[in-house]
Amino acid sequence: MSGPRVVVVGGGVTGLTAGVTLLDAARDAGHPLSLTVLESGAGAGGHAQTTCDDGFVVEAGPNGFLSREPHTLALIESLGLTSRLVEARPDAARRFIVRGGRLCLVPDGPAGLATTPALSLRAKLRLMAEPFASRPPAGVDETVYDFAARRIGAEAAEMLVDAAVSGISAGDSRRLSVRAQFPVMHEMERDHGSLLRAMFSRKRPRGPQARLVSFDRGMGVLTAALAARLGVHLRSGTGVSRIDRTTRGWRVTAEPGNVFDADHVVLAVPARAAAPMVDDLNPVLARSLRQIEYAGLGVVALAYPVRDVPRALDGYGYLATRGEGLATLGVVWESSLFPGRAPDGQALLRVMIGGARRPDVIDRPAAEVEALARRELQQVLGITAAPSRAWTFAWPSAIAQYTVGHLERRAAIADLVAAHPGLALCGTSYDGVSFNHAVKSGRELATSLAGRLWSRDLTAPVTAQGVTA
Ligand SMILES: Cc1cc2nc3c(=O)[nH]c(=O)nc-3n(C[C@H](O)[C@H](O)[C@H](O)COP(=O)(O)OP(=O)(O)OC[C@H]3O[C@@H](n4cnc5c(N)ncnc54)[C@H](O)[C@@H]3O)c2cc1C
Repeated sequence: MSGPRVVVVGGGVTGLTAGVTLLDAARDAGHPLSLTVLESGAGAGGHAQTTCDDGFVVEAGPNGFLSREPHTLALIESLGLTSRLVEARPDAARRFIVRGGRLCLVPDGPAGLATTPALSLRAKLRLMAEPFASRPPAGVDETVYDFAARRIGAEAAEMLVDAAVSGISAGDSRRLSVRAQFPVMHEMERDHGSLLRAMFSRKRPRGPQARLVSFDRGMGVLTAALAARLGVHLRSGTGVSRIDRTTRGWRVTAEPGNVFDADHVVLAVPARAAAPMVDDLNPVLARSLRQIEYAGLGVVALAYPVRDVPRALDGYGYLATRGEGLATLGVVWESSLFPGRAPDGQALLRVMIGGARRPDVIDRPAAEVEALARRELQQVLGITAAPSRAWTFAWPSAIAQYTVGHLERRAAIADLVAAHPGLALCGTSYDGVSFNHAVKSGRELATSLAGRLWSRDLTAPVTAQGVTA
């Protein structure tokens, strides 16, 4: 192989996407490229893993994404996978929260707020007063909870926002920065002075509405296609332990006993995993990367004959509010969400358990976590039967937590990385935690890098979303 040498570290969605984008750019421009994607695990995909078992399609990580990110749609198109996309059933718009042990339908817009049983009358009146809420405190990186309580009142903040934060990021709304985690909310307040006013005045984007989508055989369809496209460029079972500067570029040291020389190194791993790789290169950078926290998350997928589920699974599923005292953050009714997730007559539910609310759960044995998930399912849905099948997955560093001060930490990391030409970081530790963010981050970084890989100036900084230099 010849051409510029690029090593991408991490074979999750971000790293696979970055690798494929670079390969495609080289092919399209007719340039040589020596690309290696190093993944520590036995397979590729990172958190995006799908198990297909006896007619069940079980997601260990993400189960879908919104069809509004052009980078994701373009990637899928380039892999010839557009025809394999499936949309969530229309019922998926119905989401519930557990309040006082019972399921309450969450309002899907301002109109539904008036009638929802999820909020007391007092909370509804307070919520309607949102346009008159106090202004944000000056010079404070407000938490998501404080922002929500200030704007819509403490009860709605707890019931609607805190529960949603647990569902989206397994996080604690009292610790996350609203500017970093929900920049759109922050901008709505800044630009319109009120969230309600912003919602009413927002113009609908032209074109089809964003939908929740996945693939006919789950998210693994995409990661398998990305891995196949990389072919011999992907080396799994190759965990990187350190990266060092050499006179001619970079040296990447990986287990078991591998060394890769490179002109460019892209760290597409969580910040927590990148930190030990740069301990000797730049201890301050390593320390800054370690400051980004993660929430652990257990995922327990349970299958039951439909007759054993006392309630119609007519929606997306439910979120558990903090006051319920459950370890369960939420339950996704997978077999109601996408077609083909379970054989006829079977229901498939996925319990998301632990998170920042209950960090003890992730350290428990799988059988104990499954038993806890089943007990809490019985409490909420009344399921007493034993499941016909069960799968348990544990993700100790599931989702990055953009706690207060995240934007400053991210900027500091970017400055530190800028001191090392040829080194770049991307992924969901910095600028958005969703699957779409992972794809966007990998593609933007790779596109920016490709724009200058074959030019003469190899020291100019790579500019892209994420943290790059
Ligand atoms: C349970 C769960 C459910 C989720 N649900 C959704 C959802 O429904 N929708 C959504 O939009 N998002 C969801 N997400 C978030 C989504 O999964 C992530 O945004 C995305 O998968 C992140 O991909 P990534 O490649 O950045 O990171 P990762 O998936 O963490 O991949 C990083 C890769 O780097 C590898 N690695 C680590 N250290 C090294 C090393 N030293 N050397 C080499 N390789 C290394 C890892 O093995 C891993 O494969 C969910 C996440 C979890 C955990």
